[in-house]
Amino acid sequence: MTARPAAHEGGPARHARFLIVGPQGSGKGTQGVVVAKAFGVPQVATGDIFRENVSGGTDLGKRVQAIIEAGDLVPDELTSELVRDRLSQPDAEYGFLLDGYPRNRGQVADLDGFLISRGEQLDAVIELAVPRAESIARLTQRAIEQGRTDDTEEVISNRLAIYERETAPILDDYRARGLVARIDGVGTLAEVTDRIFSSLAVRGLVPAHPGAA
Ligand code: AMP
Repeated sequence: MTARPAAHEGGPARHARFLIVGPQGSGKGTQGVVVAKAFGVPQVATGDIFRENVSGGTDLGKRVQAIIEAGDLVPDELTSELVRDRLSQPDAEYGFLLDGYPRNRGQVADLDGFLISRGEQLDAVIELAVPRAESIARLTQRAIEQGRTDDTEEVISNRLAIYERETAPILDDYRARGLVARIDGVGTLAEVTDRIFSSLAVRGLVPAHPGAA
């Protein structure tokens, strides 16, 4: 087995296991794609996977459709199984960027168990911090542009309330582990991207494919 230098030993990161966490409308989907590409790892967005299943009319899609349309959380068991399956694919061997998972403490425990069973650990949790009013403004705009069925005013406020109640606390747990890179998410796309890469570089996490960004 070839020895892989740890990220803090310098040079490009040999593995990159990231979470990107932020309220809906924080831009984490867009930024997540950029970061995943640069590090050469798959971006895994649970919301996208669920939506694809709903539009494809799969069994999973039928089970989760009403939950997603209400902006509620899909049960942990189902979500964590989906993530474990996805992260067990060969393209996730050296890393992944998870967007939208974990979303509560139960899912954090599920992810911890999965990673421990594989002898892996997270490299960083990217927190995109955006004030509530800014998130609402961006989501309302997206509702107009994309017509997502879970972007109505009532559903948006439900989703943000769930974020504040269930998801924000997981950041405290990850902060206690020294994993959180807190990024100011207000600014242009390029400005926020620069902040993310600078913050990761401080942690010794340098993309192997910076040109891809
Ligand atoms: P998102 O695009 O990440 O906002 O996800 C859209 C919807 O998919 C959410 O409002 C939830 O209904 C569902 N969903 C996505 N990720 C999760 C998760 N980790 N746990 C439970 N439900 C989720």
